[in-house]
Amino acid sequence: MQDNVETAAPQSEMASQAYLNQLRATFEQLPNEITLYLFTAKGHEDAFTHANRQVIRAFRELSARITLREYDLDHELARQYNVTSSPTLLIAPEKYAIRWLGAPMGEEARTLLETLILVGLGKSQLSDQSLNVMKKIDSPRNIKVFVSPTCPYCPQQAVNAVKAAVEKPEYVSLEIIDIQSEPQLANQYAAQSVPQAFANDILIGQGAQTEEVFILSLQKLEPQTIFIPESDAAVVEADLVIIGGGPAGLTAGIYAVRSGLRTAVIEREALGGQVATTPIVENYPGFTSVGGKTLVDIMVSHALQYVQIFQGEAVVDVQTGKALTVLTNRRKFTTKSVLLATGATHRHLGIPGESRLSGKGVSYCSTCDGPLFKGRKVVMVGGGNSAVTEALHLFHMGVDVTLIHRRDKLRAQDFLAKQLFDSNIPVLWDTEVKEINGEDRVKEILLINNKTGELSPFITDGVFIAIGYVPAIELATMMGLEINEDGYIQHDGKHRTNIPGIYSAGDVEGGYKQIVTASGQGAEAAMTIFEDMINPYWLN
Ligand code: NAP
Repeated sequence: MQDNVETAAPQSEMASQAYLNQLRATFEQLPNEITLYLFTAKGHEDAFTHANRQVIRAFRELSARITLREYDLDHELARQYNVTSSPTLLIAPEKYAIRWLGAPMGEEARTLLETLILVGLGKSQLSDQSLNVMKKIDSPRNIKVFVSPTCPYCPQQAVNAVKAAVEKPEYVSLEIIDIQSEPQLANQYAAQSVPQAFANDILIGQGAQTEEVFILSLQKLEPQTIFIPESDAAVVEADLVIIGGGPAGLTAGIYAVRSGLRTAVIEREALGGQVATTPIVENYPGFTSVGGKTLVDIMVSHALQYVQIFQGEAVVDVQTGKALTVLTNRRKFTTKSVLLATGATHRHLGIPGESRLSGKGVSYCSTCDGPLFKGRKVVMVGGGNSAVTEALHLFHMGVDVTLIHRRDKLRAQDFLAKQLFDSNIPVLWDTEVKEINGEDRVKEILLINNKTGELSPFITDGVFIAIGYVPAIELATMMGLEINEDGYIQHDGKHRTNIPGIYSAGDVEGGYKQIVTASGQGAEAAMTIFEDMINPYWLN
């Protein structure tokens, strides 16, 4: 034991010496001088000021390229750079707007090291994908990242922000804020956990994000959870093009690529389809209770491990014949097969006022719009699983919700119905909405009791509608696919349509319309497609 201890110490010393030498060499190669400005309150030598000097001294010992200038808070430069708190460290302020409020102590020393290297390089070293997103930023972004010296995840998030500030100094300014040194500021932003990132005072990231997700959140000014790489290709060659990025399409993508098929998934709107706006999912195996968007994020992350996803692209044409071509608003896909997993869209009531007041109190998405109605009165129209799940969601959000159902019995599962009744959410039975009224927003609805024929007005701020879905068959119809009498794509039981090479899966085929069944249909379809590629049934 003793021997081990004696030999370990010199080895670790040697290792740290080698590391320091490597750092020295790195700084030597940096093309730019790095000037640090440290602002402190006159005669006020606190622990943070002391730590700042110590950390900076350590770095300056590594490189003569780092210069430190110290100023009092009442110095003219403090006014010029709008510095008001002590200590504040500005990094190369003549070129960048990067500042530390507090001291880069503990884990944060790693952030300072990376910042010095990036500033010395004069390059952000962002990935190509992040750079593509940064190009879209054309207005100011004032970032605040709250950190603490004991947080090992903080440097990742802070460095993401530093990279953005180095890449676009004309638009991006950054404050890295130590919550221990600036408790009032942390309180003001309710930053009770670190790291937390704000841009223009909007929370864009809680916890450490990957670089691409952070940059996307910065660009969109809202927290993102998934980054989907964009493609510049004008033509994509594939064995299978899947149209639709819900559970069916994503599962098919995973199965197809794992079978060896070059596969692309195209989705014109948000990935996940209806699941993305489902408040809570309680019947997807493996998850007792999971937010719909969370489940979608997990599925998309999984699918991205295998399949390229083209999101935000609308398919405008599918040319069938010997070769298949899928045209989107961005590019052309040549492919051997196409899987339609286009899902379904919200069914509308088709009553006066519905489309005119859509987005002005009429909504088909309680997860999206529910928070706007907190403490206010709304109705939820429908009696199925969606209506009941969403009514419960609104209720738990603090919305005063009444369910309106056209029959005297719910279609929803008993489990959900029980929760509805246990919550004492009022239900108007045998009732239909005849009109939605209000000038610039919903004020009132006209109800009819379909048993008695009695009409009655009902004052409400919002009308949420969850009366089922209609299959999205526009593309199918355009391509000449057979549609069954219920309005869904007709298939042979193995997801083959009447046109060779064209398949269907998920809600667009009808059936049970569960997440798990849509996923199952996607998997089945991908396996059929793989089998047909090896042994084309239309040639037999
Ligand atoms: P749904 O099950 O088809 O139910 C639609 C509801 O809206 C029914 O109660 C229906 O009344 C009513 N309705 C239809 N047209 C109407 C109209 N013009 N005016 C007034 N009411 C009307 O639709 P969903 O609830 O959206 O569910 C769609 C699918 O997703 C279903 O298969 C469902 O099981 C599934 N889903 C499952 C879950 C879950 O398992 N947790 C959650 C959400 C959705 P009637 O009852 O009189 O027909």
